[in-house]
Amino acid sequence: MHPTPITILIGILFGGLCLISPSCGDSQARAQTSVEINLKNGQAPDFDEERAFEDLRFLCEEIGPRRIGTKGLQQTTAWLQAQMAELEGWNVSLDTFKAQPPAGARRQAEVDGVNVLARRTGTEPGEIWICSHYDTYDYPGFVGANDAGSSTVVLLELARQWAGKEEREGQTLVLAWFDGEERFPPIPWQDFTNSTFGSRDLAERMFKEETIDGISALILLDMIGDAQLGVLKEQSSDSMLKQIMERTAGVLGDPNLFVGQRDIQDDHIHFRRRNVPSINLIDFNYGPGNSYWHTREDNMEHVSAKSLGRIGRLILAALPAVEREFSPRE
Ligand SMILES: [Zn+2]
Repeated sequence: MHPTPITILIGILFGGLCLISPSCGDSQARAQTSVEINLKNGQAPDFDEERAFEDLRFLCEEIGPRRIGTKGLQQTTAWLQAQMAELEGWNVSLDTFKAQPPAGARRQAEVDGVNVLARRTGTEPGEIWICSHYDTYDYPGFVGANDAGSSTVVLLELARQWAGKEEREGQTLVLAWFDGEERFPPIPWQDFTNSTFGSRDLAERMFKEETIDGISALILLDMIGDAQLGVLKEQSSDSMLKQIMERTAGVLGDPNLFVGQRDIQDDHIHFRRRNVPSINLIDFNYGPGNSYWHTREDNMEHVSAKSLGRIGRLILAALPAVEREFSPRE
């Protein structure tokens, strides 16, 4: 993911103001009718954050770095497939693509990438996508506990919660683990030539095949494991999705989950530009001054099971409202 310099400034200004004035923020969201959030049986949904945390430990300590086109990534793909194979109702497929590092990158040869897609067919038209990248940044010894191990394992635990023999009541759910979100160093992030290779390739193909309008809404998770969790109200995200997430956090008794605003370029941009209502749930303040980001400090010491649980329960509790408010555009 990548913030643009001007929006960093805006983000800091607005984020700072929001700390003292809780009413500031998304004016678009305020303009819309309020959406109702109801918890099933009045209870926070079950989400096994300890199991998710053990999965994360496995990724970081047993597999280690998971860069696109490397053995670590291949092991992760195989591990996800094996975990998903134990669950009922999910159809898993591997979606392959080629990533060309830009001129001047340390890696030069074309790289094979693989997105993992899991589909749980529903009774209603439309698909809700919940996404994460699962590759890690190319830096020696970087295991990416937060970026993006955290969201990788939250998606897997969501899959366990949503598993079942019968066809799902409601829209189809699609879990997407994107490969190649990270850039090829030392070349800087570029939305179309040096980042988001897997999501960009898939969104482009779905646009050409005219299947992208079947996606009702897309929820992207990234860097949500920080032990000091504070999720951004990402500025270019869909305002209704933002409203649903913020209200759900409130109903779950977690109103301080969202802090500040900022514009972040991440995997969701390629779907958003094809008119898919999208939200990026991301905490871009990891360690003092975001100093743990893309360093070896992004390790098991600085993430927590509790943060995984806060996000897992948020998505589970928000899903009914997302399904109610969004339908396919075909
Ligand atoms: Zn990253």
